[in-house]
Amino acid sequence: MAIRHLRRLGDLWLGTEFAQRLRLRQTSLAMVLMAISVAMLHYAVRIGGDERGLALWAWTAYALGGMAVAYAAIRSGWSLRFTDPSLTSVQIAFAITAAALGYAQAGPLRGVCFPVLTLILMFGMFQLRARSAFGLSLFALANFGGVMGVMALLRPAAYPPAVEIGHFVMLACMLPAVAVLTARLSRIRRRLADQREELARALAQLHAVATRDELTGLSNRREMQALMDQELQRSLRHGYQFCIAIADLDHFKRVNDAHGHAAGDIVLRSFAQAGQGALRATDVIARWGGEEFLVLLPDTAMPLALGGMERLRQRVEALKIDVGDGVEVSVTVSIGLTGHRLGDTLAQTLARADRLLYEAKAAGRNQTLSD
Ligand code: GH3
Ligand code: MG
Ligand code: MG
Repeated sequence: MAIRHLRRLGDLWLGTEFAQRLRLRQTSLAMVLMAISVAMLHYAVRIGGDERGLALWAWTAYALGGMAVAYAAIRSGWSLRFTDPSLTSVQIAFAITAAALGYAQAGPLRGVCFPVLTLILMFGMFQLRARSAFGLSLFALANFGGVMGVMALLRPAAYPPAVEIGHFVMLACMLPAVAVLTARLSRIRRRLADQREELARALAQLHAVATRDELTGLSNRREMQALMDQELQRSLRHGYQFCIAIADLDHFKRVNDAHGHAAGDIVLRSFAQAGQGALRATDVIARWGGEEFLVLLPDTAMPLALGGMERLRQRVEALKIDVGDGVEVSVTVSIGLTGHRLGDTLAQTLARADRLLYEAKAAGRNQTLSD
């Protein structure tokens, strides 16, 4: 129960969208740290015995108000219009100004501002590019340098110039180091992103190799087997029919013998293209082997399937394939077509289609036989 309420509260605070939640989590952490820093400064001012109530409360409103504005800008979706919707640089720059103004009030405890400043810059490590990191380091140095100078002038008793010079020199050495580390992380991040992209490309290539026939670009035998298995399951579940056809080029050996193997390859490619063009978008044609192709007609019953295969056969018959050197080749195709029957295995259906193809060949080729 309690956990459910907590989760609901979390959803209310962070929203439900993944990237936004990530951004708001980061900002929430910054808000908590800011709240702790505010408490610390109040403590520092109190033990410093330096009562400047108004300035302290104005600073408190500035620090907490700024973080609230950042939270609202992100939570409302307003910041999505920027290239960095997390507003990382803006939040860091704001926190730097708050830290510098805090430094002006902290008195003897002002040294605590330095680790806080480092922490602020570390927020950039997850996101910032090298250039922004260096820019923000410079910005911090300028802010603190300005505050140190002004305080050394206005209140030299509390902020002795010699001490402030020491503080400034230390910052001038430390801040670039943080920027260098951020830059290094940024490079690592970019390399990782590149590698991830390369991996995705390789995976896509591998997928193509595993599922496509290299010569024709059609689905290969393995892919077709998987597609037929899928279709069988679907037809069992939903009770609709599907058909399978085997198409075999007629006297293809003669094409090879007369024009060469390369010409035969061109004919196979042209057949594949014409076949795909003749079929509906939901039908699948695959290279089953050699000059033999398998067609899967999902959710299709016989008269319609026969019409489709006849269209394919006629399309092929009409082809004039340029195999180079001004030579044109024509081919025909014989087709065995059958509907899958409830209770049969795929192997039985394929065997039926194969037998019909054999009969089509025997009956004179260039025809579709179905049962
Ligand atoms: P049928 O009408 O009885 O099918 O006669 P066919 O000549 O087409 O049949 P057969 O099985 O005798 O010959 C098939 C030929 O297909 C033989 C083989 O060299 C050729 N073949 C198979 N795969 C390829 C290929 O990838 N490229 C080329 N160019 N030819 C191929
Ligand atoms: Mg053949
Ligand atoms: Mg054959």
